[in-house]
Amino acid sequence: MLLEKNTAWHWDVQQQNSFERLKQTITNAPVLKYYDVNKHVTIQVDASPDGLGAVLLQDERPVAYASRSLTQTQRNYAQIEKEMLAITFGCERFHDYIFGKKSVTVHTDHKPLEFIFKKPLYHAPLRLQRMILRTQKYSINVQYKPGKELLIADTLSRACQQSNSSINELTRDFEVNVIDLLPMSKEKVQQLQSATEVDQDLKELNSCIKEGRPTDKSKVPEGAKPYWNYRDQIIEQAGLLFKGNKVIVPRVLRSETLKIIHNAHLGIEKCKRRARDILFWPGMNAEIEDLVKKCQVCQDHQVRNMREPLHPLDSPSRPWEIVATDLFELDGSSYLILVDSYSGFFEIAQLTGTKSSSVITHCKSQFARHGILDTLISDNGPQFASHEFATFAQEYGFQHTTSSPHFPQSNGLAERYVQTAKNLLKKAKQASTDPYLALLAYRNTPVNEKLGSPTQRLFGRRTKTTLPTSTTLLEPKIIEPKIVKETLHKNKEKQKQYFDHHTKELSVLQPGDNVRYETNTGLKAAVVIEKRKEPRSYMIRTSNGFVLRRNRKHLYESTGMNRLENCDLDDDNITEYQPPHQIPIAVGRQQNGLEPGQAPQTPQLYTTRSGRASRKPERLQAN
Ligand SMILES: [Zn+2]
Repeated sequence: MLLEKNTAWHWDVQQQNSFERLKQTITNAPVLKYYDVNKHVTIQVDASPDGLGAVLLQDERPVAYASRSLTQTQRNYAQIEKEMLAITFGCERFHDYIFGKKSVTVHTDHKPLEFIFKKPLYHAPLRLQRMILRTQKYSINVQYKPGKELLIADTLSRACQQSNSSINELTRDFEVNVIDLLPMSKEKVQQLQSATEVDQDLKELNSCIKEGRPTDKSKVPEGAKPYWNYRDQIIEQAGLLFKGNKVIVPRVLRSETLKIIHNAHLGIEKCKRRARDILFWPGMNAEIEDLVKKCQVCQDHQVRNMREPLHPLDSPSRPWEIVATDLFELDGSSYLILVDSYSGFFEIAQLTGTKSSSVITHCKSQFARHGILDTLISDNGPQFASHEFATFAQEYGFQHTTSSPHFPQSNGLAERYVQTAKNLLKKAKQASTDPYLALLAYRNTPVNEKLGSPTQRLFGRRTKTTLPTSTTLLEPKIIEPKIVKETLHKNKEKQKQYFDHHTKELSVLQPGDNVRYETNTGLKAAVVIEKRKEPRSYMIRTSNGFVLRRNRKHLYESTGMNRLENCDLDDDNITEYQPPHQIPIAVGRQQNGLEPGQAPQTPQLYTTRSGRASRKPERLQAN
């Protein structure tokens, strides 16, 4: 009544007494309660745009209140950060009550925080991590409560006293240094910052996270909608937006970034894994797919259909334990390759000659870097079969296993990586890109989530590449050897099953189909003229007019996903799963149809219900 418009302001003894009584009531029993050390404690916290509030409850009655205003910096925090700050504030303010208590319940009205506390710490964005770390000394159990049930904390957060200090104890630790966060050149940071600033979508996203996320997707501005599913993880720092620890790349920089991602001309899946590891933008995967599919260099160096079965090796249990080696030629030079079977990390060295002594020198140089291995696997080449090499093995104390002359494929591991290495080098040459950057990219590309990248497995860390990577991601992190060993073993079993039980027919080509055919210098374009009556045999016309006869296994379709997915498989290591279309058809059978004196087989035709003539898969026919 005092506040009504036409009422004169009265404040004398009576009013003063009422006010004092009110003050008494809310600060004494039965409203305010004495702290009981044996009873359970609940802290309710809340953040308003300008302040934080916290109340400590026992038996649902308040024991203590706390509130604080936010500094200018904190006002710019995303809502989730403010809410987390409220938790940290509540815990620290009530330290004397809760330190050492076995379990303290914390109520927040920000649901994502409940999940963040359940996930491993490193999943949280950096600033949140630091806040969470500060609460680690308390055993708190964060639970979501709807805002309307947290009235006291809400009121306190809104009614906080204004403070003018710009820094206070609570925040100092949370201010993350951007230079520290992004180990890239100043120019690169500035480029990202200014592109982020003018990016319309990111602007909308940024204001969305500043004002607290809308709870209803329909209320989200158009540009921010693609980020809806990740709304708990989006954070702004120093003019850049992050999804967790991953930089969100603004639209204008995406095509350039895509180029860097694909600079080693790795296949679709590898590029995706490489990018997902450190970067983010909506639709990134689709854009990578598109880029790789259209890449001319990759099309020219597409994987071969035929692949030798692997000789199963023992699964290694640590890096650089079992290493395979081989020699290969490229552009007139000889190279030595050493492949670590644990990590899939390979080293290549250009040889000055192919003599045993030259090979030994390069092996020694690698052993100086990675240590001496337990077992070295090689073929029976003269360099490895020499007396000199045997002496070297004895001196250095490792076991040298050569593959049997009758089963050269038992050195399948090294041979596969020879292909990978050659492809990397050839692609880099054709695209005039730096082969060393290609190697670096390959080595940092995760094989899958469990195994991580070759570098990660061998060194226990990521190494810095030309893609922007946050410092946290560059810190050492070892992938549990037990997990690696198990995964490698499982993959091998799976692969073996495939080779033993599974073959798959390549599709039938039609006259007029655009194909690519194998030559000594990579794949060349051609057109199918006709299908011959011999199984899987085709006549093709090359781009310079020659008519050739080729077996299906040497022909690659120029359209369609099948072919393009192959692109990814040329450089895989042994731990990866091989899809059926890679598997040679009817292993061990003469397939080129050119054997002299061999009567051409006529495929048996049968008619399908629709009346279309169809040929039975050849592997079903008598052989
Ligand atoms: Zn490419």
